[in-house]
Amino acid sequence: MRTLEAKPEKPAFAATQNPCKLCAPLGASLVFRGVENTVGLLHGSQGCSTYIRRYMISHFKEPVDIASSNFSEETAVFGGGENLKTALENVIAQYHPQMIGVASTCLSETIGEDVEKILREFRAAHSTGTLPELLNVSTPSYKGTHMDGFHATVLAITKHLARRSGRQKTISIFPGLISPEDMRYLKQVTRDFDVAAVMLPDYSETLDGGAWDTYHLISPGGTPVAVLREMGSHAASLEFATTLAPEKSAGAYLEQQFEVPHMRMDLPIGVTASDRLFETLSLITGQAVPGVYQTARGRLLDAYADAHKHVFGVPVAIYGEEDWVIALAGFAAEIGMVAVVCASGGHSGQLRSRLLERLPKTIAKTAEILEDVDFSEIEEAARKRQPELLVGNSKGYALARKLDIPLVRVGFPVHDRIGGQRLLHLGVTRVPSVCLTSGSML
Ligand code: SF4
Repeated sequence: MRTLEAKPEKPAFAATQNPCKLCAPLGASLVFRGVENTVGLLHGSQGCSTYIRRYMISHFKEPVDIASSNFSEETAVFGGGENLKTALENVIAQYHPQMIGVASTCLSETIGEDVEKILREFRAAHSTGTLPELLNVSTPSYKGTHMDGFHATVLAITKHLARRSGRQKTISIFPGLISPEDMRYLKQVTRDFDVAAVMLPDYSETLDGGAWDTYHLISPGGTPVAVLREMGSHAASLEFATTLAPEKSAGAYLEQQFEVPHMRMDLPIGVTASDRLFETLSLITGQAVPGVYQTARGRLLDAYADAHKHVFGVPVAIYGEEDWVIALAGFAAEIGMVAVVCASGGHSGQLRSRLLERLPKTIAKTAEILEDVDFSEIEEAARKRQPELLVGNSKGYALARKLDIPLVRVGFPVHDRIGGQRLLHLGVTRVPSVCLTSGSML
């Protein structure tokens, strides 16, 4: 049996089979949706935008526009600079955005496009007019996952916009890839602590808004660019990403550049991780944890006790983004379940050590910890460890069918059920309707 201390050797594969990750510009596109009046533009072929749009629509059930510089065979050989400039002109003319976020794709990265230079030329050619903010982020999918693209874009926006002018009591929150419902929950928590919070990204409305009377070219919502400019003046930043390297962290950047204290923590799923969030907010604001959360915490603990005889000792396989796997494995341990497989397509190198810190030693010692894997490798481990339950996104559907065990759908994407965007995973407020959850995952 493998242990946490003994990292398994990676077998040689001819190809990845059903990857346990998504493409890097998809993460970038999600973040761009969380900034007000912003359009994402992928520098590459039209198929990349179409695939990502389709993927996001299937989960969020909202209209999603992603522009493309539309590479052809000719552009792939001679470069797509002129295409990108034309795309920028078209987006500006049609959408009148305040910001355009340009993310590269496998193709433009492979031919070595200098997007910064193309944007400089575009700005110089339009120096007499008013241009939107033009931002570039490098997101080669062959080098990273959707989470790499996501965090790279949060960092790129922070670097591009954040300035310091005095000091405010406001806090920045870098929540990672959570659901719109989770974002609304976090905003409610900060309101209850009576502290202003700026979230990057905030797609709680843009990707889960109400029904429209008239069509909006850009969905209403998102954090305004002007508000993001003030991040350098904030009192603190919270980041739910403990596997993220400091040089890739927007919170670490704010601390380094503007002396904004940076606090990192696990995604607040379950009581232990939520306690850490509430303690941190208490520390920042000097306020006691609002009574509503103390009451909800007690009710949730009571629900844990009620469910204990059903879930205690149940072996579970958890997969997905590294930070999600750590938070969910911690939550599973909290309610008495045993994470026998913890797997991710991510490759930060932090999953193993973070799980060792987070899980009880008895579970951590025997769990199969799999980093940078696809679903064929997860299946191999699951067949060996015989979990009774899978927990992860909809990409595990085929595996659940093969193993003939239930799949608890969480995170992103949940595209074979309606309402993935409205799952609440974080916090302690809701008593679970099903004993396996701290939020409303089922
Ligand atoms: S070619 Fe690369 S960037 Fe485009 S959809 Fe495929 S993985 Fe994503």
